[in-house]
Amino acid sequence: MKRDPTSFLKEEYDALVDSNLEWIIRHLETGSKPHAMVDGREVLMLNTNNYLGLATHPKIVKAMIDAANKYGAGAGAVPVIAGTFDLTKEFQKKFAEYKGVEASLLCQTGFAVNQGVIPTLIDADDYVISDSLNHGSIIDGVRLTKATRGVYDHNDVSVLETELKKADDAGARRILVITDGVFSMDGDIAPLPDIVKACEPYGAMIFVDDCHGEGVLGGGRGIVAHFDLQHKVHVEGGSMSKGFGVFGGSVAGSEDLISFVKNKSRSYLLSTAHPPAVVAACIAAVEIAATEPEHNKSLWNNTNYFKKEVQDLGYNTGNSATPIIPLIVGDPGKAQKLAERLFKQENIFATPIVFPMVARELSRIRVQMNALLSKDDLDYAIAALKKIGNELEII
Ligand SMILES: *Cc1c(COP(=O)(O)O)cnc(C)c1O
Repeated sequence: MKRDPTSFLKEEYDALVDSNLEWIIRHLETGSKPHAMVDGREVLMLNTNNYLGLATHPKIVKAMIDAANKYGAGAGAVPVIAGTFDLTKEFQKKFAEYKGVEASLLCQTGFAVNQGVIPTLIDADDYVISDSLNHGSIIDGVRLTKATRGVYDHNDVSVLETELKKADDAGARRILVITDGVFSMDGDIAPLPDIVKACEPYGAMIFVDDCHGEGVLGGGRGIVAHFDLQHKVHVEGGSMSKGFGVFGGSVAGSEDLISFVKNKSRSYLLSTAHPPAVVAACIAAVEIAATEPEHNKSLWNNTNYFKKEVQDLGYNTGNSATPIIPLIVGDPGKAQKLAERLFKQENIFATPIVFPMVARELSRIRVQMNALLSKDDLDYAIAALKKIGNELEII
């Protein structure tokens, strides 16, 4: 048979467009901050993970420029071949101190952490148990293992207990339980104290991916610090690209964990290290998060104010317990219309989230709070949501 090697590209893309599932990528003409130029218009951005507003913090930008001047642009190779910068060592020490753990490792991205670390921790004789709403990068990391897989209903510790028992009865050598700290579509958080309690009798290893919790929960130290569970959670995965406003991934935990991961994680071993300017910016971001609590405070003040106001308007914010605030409207067409009218009529940039990212009947726009939003900004957004919500008969 002679195949058409590439005809599927256009066919599958066209099918996405026909079902309204195409991603439209807009273009930023300024830095990512609440007032930004996007596709030629000045908009209020309500859809970034830059929770603390650090992406444009002058001290971080300066650290980046200074490091580029001193060290140049690129890292040259993967760390195990040609070394890592003294900056990286400094970051890892500072970040571990900030998190209240023994050691940390700067990795390429949060995504690379899950791809690289999960398959090193478990193998064919083991069992991995994952929350049903875990991030796609966790799902992919789990797919790379030969371990037996179990899934528990979202945040349902009683199902987790059943899975733990199953793994134990099957004689698993190791059991790994893995969950997001903050779930990115709903802004709810994992019931970590109950998960720790359920895992303890089995000696199960616990991995929390706290990409949306760092900079946000626990005064910025993340969900483990929020629940005071340091040393009871064995692996913390994180991202420097969200609350810290820069770029990169992190692993935090014991010295033993970090030595192990450094020598075994394929994404760490086989992918080039960060440019030195990025590492310097990550150091500055952690220093700011540790010494300037006002950013975290402002983020939560904005979160509490905005969430209460939109709830009073009649919006369904689901189980949000963080600065991720979904406005669940149900119908996917309505969610898309709401986002489109906010952008075109009100210059507000908020993103519709529809199937397959969430169930069809739970379509929404997802709003994310930011420390740099002023009360005027929030009131402007609330008034716009009232007007368009009424027009579209959402509220
Ligand atoms: C964003 C995110 C990631 C990926 O992190 P990056 O640093 O952007 O690659 C991984 N896990 C979760 C839970 C996330 O929200």
